[in-house]
Amino acid sequence: SVPLGYFGGIGGASRHGILIKGANYLEALTDLRTVVFDKTGTLTEGVFQVVEISPAKGYTKQELIEIAARAEAHSPHPIAKSIREKYGKVLKDSDLTGLLSYEEVSGQGIRAIFNGKTVLVGKAELLEQAGILTPRLTVAKGLGTEVYISVNGDYVGQLIISDRVKPDSRAAIAGLNQMGLKTVMLTGDNPAVAKAVAEELALSEYYSDLMPEDKVAWLETFSQAKGQGKVAFVGDGINDAPVLTRADVGIAMGGLGSDAAIEAADVVIMEDQPGKLLEAIHIARYTKKIIW
Ligand code: ADP
Ligand code: MG
Repeated sequence: SVPLGYFGGIGGASRHGILIKGANYLEALTDLRTVVFDKTGTLTEGVFQVVEISPAKGYTKQELIEIAARAEAHSPHPIAKSIREKYGKVLKDSDLTGLLSYEEVSGQGIRAIFNGKTVLVGKAELLEQAGILTPRLTVAKGLGTEVYISVNGDYVGQLIISDRVKPDSRAAIAGLNQMGLKTVMLTGDNPAVAKAVAEELALSEYYSDLMPEDKVAWLETFSQAKGQGKVAFVGDGINDAPVLTRADVGIAMGGLGSDAAIEAADVVIMEDQPGKLLEAIHIARYTKKIIW
């Protein structure tokens, strides 16, 4: 049975915008060893901006951004939103009459069929897996996320899209490091962007170019370090549900997060502030001290 005092802790946390779905998670927060973060939308704002448009020969910048915006018309991903914004108008239904179907390739991008043509928008690997020769420009290194575009098997250009670290992330990571916890970032983004963010935040470890299933595998690796305390995962919810479920404490940021993530999470942080995790740990520790 659960000591009654834990309910006070859960109530206290909720007044700070931290929803804890059970006393066992409050208890687990006092026994953390490793905190694993998703990057996009969790440690970074997830508010991307298109900073460069590089069309292949035969295409204009306007044409390239239009192709990408139409393929991304329905995607909730922050990269998709930035591309639609750059295109300069919210796509009206009439712009989409040729869109037959689209499919989100989790952690990789979009595959759409538009006016009978297959359009891919996403990581270089997404195009390369379809046998499309994709020039990887080096100008982007560290500047931002590279998004590649193809139409009917031909490479038509790339975009560079940049994001920013949340002001709150630095203090959150510093606080966790100070508590002696291991701080880890898992991201599907490229190594250059991941390195820049990891160094800016002084994370203990980071792993890049991951597919959603790789994130689950890493989480299991951290969990298997027996007798070393519990593992928390913090995500914004886009593609995160499987990892959230696997962690000892799955924590979703409620502001940007999807319903699926809020459902899968053990703890929901109502504001998109990683610093709230420090508060949650302090409340959990304080509550435990009162009870025992
Ligand atoms: P993170 O692991 O940083 O949270 P995601 O798993 O959401 O990032 O995506 C990983 C990578 O896949 C992105 O950096 C981007 O290159 C690509 N990607 C994912 N979704 C899209 C999309 N809708 N359009 C273009 N690229 C995408
Ligand atoms: Mg993500």
